[in-house]
Amino acid sequence: MHIREFQHLIDRMYSQRDRQRGPAKTFLWFAEEVGELASAIARKDNRNTAQEFADVFAWLVTLANVEGVDLEAAVSKYADGCPGCGEMVCRCEEKLT
Ligand SMILES: [Mg+2]
Ligand SMILES: [Zn+2]
Repeated sequence: MHIREFQHLIDRMYSQRDRQRGPAKTFLWFAEEVGELASAIARKDNRNTAQEFADVFAWLVTLANVEGVDLEAAVSKYADGCPGCGEMVCRCEEKLT
């Protein structure tokens, strides 16, 4: 599944409630899922960790829908190289030292 297909799926499933909730409360849900991911990683619960990655990504996509951002288009800039240094294999740390 492409990112754009997933974003459309999430839009079909949740957009009505998402628009009513708005960006600020949607961001709180997203942040809560990031916390759940942190806890799963800390517990070394691999199966739950994968599920929490899915939840974080789904809520990030939801937030993008609420904000009207096309995530697949947004991440496509990485195809041209690291946004920091422009290299396909990042050399940002080398620049710092
Ligand atoms: Mg979760
Ligand atoms: Zn870089």
